[in-house]
Amino acid sequence: MKHCSTCGRPVEQRIPAGDDRPRHTCTACGAIHYLNPRVVVGCLVEHEQKLLLCKRAIEPNIGRWTVPGGYLELGEGALQGARRETREEAQAEVEITAPHAYLDLPHIGQCYYLFHARLRSAFAPGPESLEVELVALEDIPWTELAFPVVHWALELFVADRSDGVFRMHQGMLHWDGTGSRFDPGHYTLRDHLALTYQEDLP
Ligand SMILES: [Zn+2]
Repeated sequence: MKHCSTCGRPVEQRIPAGDDRPRHTCTACGAIHYLNPRVVVGCLVEHEQKLLLCKRAIEPNIGRWTVPGGYLELGEGALQGARRETREEAQAEVEITAPHAYLDLPHIGQCYYLFHARLRSAFAPGPESLEVELVALEDIPWTELAFPVVHWALELFVADRSDGVFRMHQGMLHWDGTGSRFDPGHYTLRDHLALTYQEDLP
């Protein structure tokens, strides 16, 4: 941020009175512009023991695979946003059945809310996807995933399924500060909490 969104004059980093960290502060009108994490919402869509994956048609990581997801919009709830993103990227209607993982990525200021969902329609690539496919868990393209958070979310999912349980996860993905930010090998899952629950199958 270089300019004040209130008056258009330059901002500088300054610790406001009573605060403990620098904030973008306007040099003219004094407005303090707080930057806070952004929420990303998405779905792990299951159908016949397979997961719906999208091959990205946009940067970053064009041509790599992810679960449908994206930034939560203002005025929208998390489930609403996750359904909307799934509709946009996979042209699919889904029923969200349970939370899967809340994963924080403090190094890029993002919080991911990922949900379990069931497919309730046909699917096809939306404008942001090159391909959309139902992929068996043993065929997940681990080396072609777009983002480490997707890698971790799918790893947790596969582990839960192989344990035969349903779990809701909370954790923070810590980047070790070396190598590519897109390499899941440079991340560890910290503050991991997992709650096991019963899922009532319809
Ligand atoms: Zn200003």
